Amino acid sequence: MERRAVIIGAGLGGLLCGEMLSRNGFKVFVAEKQARPGGCLQTFRRAGMTFDCGFHYVGGMRPGEALGKIFDAFSLRDLPFVRMDPGCSDEVTIGNDTFSIPSDGPDAFVDVLSGFFPAQRDNLERYASLLKQVGDNIFGALSSQAMNPLFATGAKAWLEETISDPLLRKVLSANALKMELSPSLPLYTFAQINSSFMMSSWRLTGGGDSIVSALCDSIRACGGEIILGDAASRIVSDGAKVTSVELASGESIPCDVAVADTHPAVAMALAENTEGVRKIYRRRISSLESTFGMFTVNVALKKGALPYINHNLFIHSAEADMWNPASGKVDSVMVHFYPEGDHLDIMTPMDFAEVSGWADTSTGRRPEEYAEFKRGKAEECICLAGKRIPGLRDAFDRVWTSTPLTWRDYTGSVNGSAYGVRKDFSSPEQTLIPSRTPLPGLFLTGQSLNLHGILGVGMTALLTCREILGPDPVRIA
Ligand SMILES: Cc1cc2nc3c(=O)[nH]c(=O)nc-3n(C[C@H](O)[C@H](O)[C@H](O)COP(=O)(O)OP(=O)(O)OC[C@H]3O[C@@H](n4cnc5c(N)ncnc54)[C@H](O)[C@@H]3O)c2cc1C
Repeated sequence: MERRAVIIGAGLGGLLCGEMLSRNGFKVFVAEKQARPGGCLQTFRRAGMTFDCGFHYVGGMRPGEALGKIFDAFSLRDLPFVRMDPGCSDEVTIGNDTFSIPSDGPDAFVDVLSGFFPAQRDNLERYASLLKQVGDNIFGALSSQAMNPLFATGAKAWLEETISDPLLRKVLSANALKMELSPSLPLYTFAQINSSFMMSSWRLTGGGDSIVSALCDSIRACGGEIILGDAASRIVSDGAKVTSVELASGESIPCDVAVADTHPAVAMALAENTEGVRKIYRRRISSLESTFGMFTVNVALKKGALPYINHNLFIHSAEADMWNPASGKVDSVMVHFYPEGDHLDIMTPMDFAEVSGWADTSTGRRPEEYAEFKRGKAEECICLAGKRIPGLRDAFDRVWTSTPLTWRDYTGSVNGSAYGVRKDFSSPEQTLIPSRTPLPGLFLTGQSLNLHGILGVGMTALLTCREILGPDPVRIA
C-alpha cells in the first residue's frame, strides 16, 4: 500500500524532505501556513524588484564541493548562480582598515590573508587546514553515528588559541554574520560554514524562490501536493505511532510519517495533546534558546547610481565586538548587492528585546512608534554602510525595512530568530536535536536541528530522510 507523508512547513528543509520522500514512493502532502512556499527562502517584490528574505550567498558550489554535490542530487545546479569575486568575495572593514577574504580554496585564503598579516602565515595555515578537513569530511560526518568532537569544542577559544594576532581574529570573525558568534558557538558550526565559503561563493539571480519553485515542481511531478495558506494545527497519534496531521482549515490528512520543518518549539506545540510525545521531551525541546534575529534594510537604487559590487561588504565600527553583535547599537552591517545591480540589502543582527514592546501587534497593524523605531535603526545602518560606500545614500530610490517581528510572523521562528536553536558546545547533547522523536513516525528537520544555512539545512534533510528511508535517500556523487 502507498505510504503517505505530511511535511509541516514548506521551508527548504521541508521541501527537500518532501522531494526525497516523493521520489522514494511516498504520497507527499506539504502543508504551509503562508500563502507562499519557501519560508526563509521566500522572495518578495518591491518597486518591480525581487528581494530575498534569507538567501544572499552560498558557498562550496563548484563541482565536487559539498553544496554542489547536494544541488546536483536535486537538479538545482542549472539555476542562474553567479560566482562572486574569487580574490575577494567578502570585504571586511573594521574602523579605517579594510581586508579581502577570498573564496578560491585554502591556498588562496592563506596567501591573501598572509599579505595583510605576514607573521600569521603558519597560524593561517592551521586555520585553513581545519576548515578544509571539516569540509572534506562533511558527508562522512553525516554517516557516522558518533557526534563530531568539534561540536563539543568552543569556536571562540579555538580561534584565540590558533590565531595570536587579535586584529586577525577580528577579521576572521567579521564576515560571520551568517551565524551567531556567541561564546557558546561550537567549532564545528563555525568551521563548516566558513569552510564552504573558503572554497567558492555564489549569488543567485532572481532569488531563492527559484530553488523553491524547482523543488515544488519536482514534488508535484511525483504526485505530491503543496497545500498553501493552511497551517498544521495538530499532530495526531494512536499512542503507538503518528496517524494524521490536522490543518487549521479543519482538514485531516492521514499519514504514516509526519516531518516538521518548523522551529522545534512550534512542532512541540502541535504535539501538545499527542499521545506518545512525553511532556518532559516537549519541555526540553521547547525550552531551548534561539539565536538572534536580523534587521534588514531593503534598498531600491536609482538607475545607474551605484556600480554593482560582486562581493559582500562587512562593515564594522572600530569598537565592534564580533562575538556580541546584537548588543543594541549598530556596530556591524553586511551589505549585499543583488546580481541584477539595481538593488541591495543592508543587514545587522538584532535581539528580539529591541522590539518586544510590539510583540502583541501583527504585520501591517503596528503603531507609528514602531515605524519610527525602524527609521532610526535604518539610519544607523545606512550611516555605517556609507562609511565604506561613498554616495550610498544619494543612490537610494526607495527603502523598506524588516525586524525579527516580521520574521516571527512570517516563518513562525521563535522571537524571529534568524538561525533557529542556539547550539552550545558545552552541552551538545542538549542543543543538537535528533530528527527522530520518541513518537514513531514523527520526525523533525530544518535549521534548528544541527546546522543552519542552505548547506546545513540540506545536510539535515539528508539526515532526516536517512532515518525514514535508509542510507541513501538520494545519490550524492
Ligand atoms: C536574514 C537571513 C539571511 C540569511 N542568509 C543566508 C545566506 O545568505 N545563505 C545561507 O546559506 N543561509 C542564509 N540564511 C539561513 C537560511 O535561510 C535558513 O537556514 C534556511 O532557509 C532555513 O530553512 P528551514 O526549512 O529550516 O526553515 P524555514 O525557512 O523557517 O521554514 C519553516 C517553514 O515552516 C512554516 N510553518 C511554521 N509553522 C507552521 C505550521 N504550523 N504549519 C505549516 N507551516 C508552518 C513557515 O511558514 C516556513 O515556511 C539566512 C537567514 C536569514 C534569517
